[in-house]
Amino acid sequence: LIVLENVNKWFGPLHVLDDVNMSVARGEVVVVIGPSGSGKSTLCRAINRLEPISSGTITFDGKPLPEEGKSLARLRSEVGMVFQSFNLFAHKTILQNVMLGPVKVRKEKPVEVRERAMALLDRVGIGNQAEKFPAQLSGGQQQRVAIARALAMQPKAMLFDEPTSALDPEMVGEVLDVMTSLAREGMTMVVVTHEMGFARHAANRVVFMADGQLVEEAPPTEFFANPKSDRAKDFLSKIL
Ligand code: ATP
Ligand code: MG
Repeated sequence: LIVLENVNKWFGPLHVLDDVNMSVARGEVVVVIGPSGSGKSTLCRAINRLEPISSGTITFDGKPLPEEGKSLARLRSEVGMVFQSFNLFAHKTILQNVMLGPVKVRKEKPVEVRERAMALLDRVGIGNQAEKFPAQLSGGQQQRVAIARALAMQPKAMLFDEPTSALDPEMVGEVLDVMTSLAREGMTMVVVTHEMGFARHAANRVVFMADGQLVEEAPPTEFFANPKSDRAKDFLSKIL
């Protein structure tokens, strides 16, 4: 579904993505790990073209990423993204937040979107909070709204960039549970996270990045039991 070939990205003199080759099959869950500054966020942002790349190609669903216009808007709705910060609209209710994309961007009928949005809120466990405003919810609840909002666009893939890093520890589990059930239901997912439990249980593959390079990739059991590169070994010794 997602294919990156010889992808390079420079920020001025900084080589942030260094000849990255990677593919994500439909229904696959790929967890991306690596030290701070290794290019994980840039990789995610490149996939839905929040960040243009300097060279190489990225294809999504068989087509090169569009550069602009309507097809770029379509790409963004097909690739949902959830960030560390939830970025909900403070002056709209939870339900309005979830309905906004489908109604404004995709011009869908509000009555139909409403039904889907309520079903999604139920699914992430906050159907009873639909009329509240973001500030009235906990961080974990807000992040689950952000996931529901992305799903409301009926994406073909979901990108998560450290979705639990800003949460209090007791709220991490509820967000990971939603992500795990999404993974089990067959959603194609790229997840940047430091939650190694999630990587072990939900990922089909772990990708380890360092200095903009994709250093190593393997199924989680293999990667954690037997990391090949010294950098991966060093990284794991610091976080496990
Ligand atoms: P972290 O774990 O801290 O989130 P990361 O692996 O996500 O790190 P990126 O955010 O992708 O790393 O950043 C990779 C490198 O690119 C870093 O050195 C960062 O400072 C640099 N960088 C990121 N965005 C920009 C930008 N807009 N302009 C200049 N440099 C940038
Ligand atoms: Mg990052």
